[in-house]
Amino acid sequence: MSFTKKWLRKDIQSISAYHVPNSDNFLKLDAMESPFVPNQDFQNEFTDFLSKVEINRYPNPSADEVVQSLRNLMGVDDSYGVLLGNGSDELIQILAMACGEKESIMSFSPSFVMYEMIAKFTRLNYLDSPLIDFDINLEEALNLIETQKPKIIFIAYPNNPTGNLFNREKIETIIKSTDALVVLDEAYYAYSNDTFLNDIAKYENLVLLRTISKIGFAGVRLGLLIGSKEIVSGLNKIRLPYNVNSLTQAACKFLLNKKDYLQSHANSIVNERKKLIESLKKYKNITVFPSQANFVLIKTEESEKFFNFLLEKKILIKNLSKMKGLMNYLRITIGSKQDNSIFSSALDEFFS
Ligand code: PMP
Repeated sequence: MSFTKKWLRKDIQSISAYHVPNSDNFLKLDAMESPFVPNQDFQNEFTDFLSKVEINRYPNPSADEVVQSLRNLMGVDDSYGVLLGNGSDELIQILAMACGEKESIMSFSPSFVMYEMIAKFTRLNYLDSPLIDFDINLEEALNLIETQKPKIIFIAYPNNPTGNLFNREKIETIIKSTDALVVLDEAYYAYSNDTFLNDIAKYENLVLLRTISKIGFAGVRLGLLIGSKEIVSGLNKIRLPYNVNSLTQAACKFLLNKKDYLQSHANSIVNERKKLIESLKKYKNITVFPSQANFVLIKTEESEKFFNFLLEKKILIKNLSKMKGLMNYLRITIGSKQDNSIFSSALDEFFS
């Protein structure tokens, strides 16, 4: 028996690492990244800015300037605390590490897979409340909360991969019904018409997660948790020192102040989303689901064939068929106007 077979936790041996498909030379419409590449002047200015980073020194441990830039960009009140992570994935992990032995994390299915994976890595129980018609099954969820007493409830708002917002009243009922920390994951806030940002002051057990990955800067790796100062200072004890590196901090200082640039890109995505949904709706054998995010979920009997057809055309979308309950579902990230016209031509070619 090999060393690793003897040594590595059995439950880790039996799972696969998070799979990222090779996308070299593909039109990438699979991972909800921004399609916008900054122009040459922007890139030159950015490079100059980064060249001043003192790479021989540790980063600023509290990244105060980044926090301030995020407050300005997202309108986060000074009375709220902000905790930064190396992507919001790291913040989900920090939240899980705050739970005690044998405690549970709850979320909904289908939803973002990392809630369950991180529960596993941190040896917590995972409680799944299946959605009905992509919304929360309130009765079932409240029952699970009452009987299993989860420590944390993750709610993606808008939800990934379905793209919709769950019913707000149901979420508020859940927040009020529990002693669990409710984490509203607003990764796609920039494309949605609702937020729980103003509700943090109302509920002591509510925090928000956001990320800059979906607004243009997935490569920079920065997520934030917004909550009461007390919760943030408790969680901050678990955060590894210097988790936000100097290059990320410098990049954020430069990038996050470009509010108009970010807003115009968000507007363009929302506009393209509308157009893409119209193109998809032309085909009777495609069901298109409403979206408040920078992606659209569709269902078609032809999912496998269409996915492979796109691969041949060097277009990569996300095939969700292997996820529980998502047989024949595909998720398409909204690209630039040009990206979407390439996708729409392929769509027409396949389905007409
Ligand atoms: N939350 C949701 C709902 C997501 O869909 C994703 C990424 N797909 C994340 C969090 C993770 O984002 P980050 O890049 O900040 O780790």
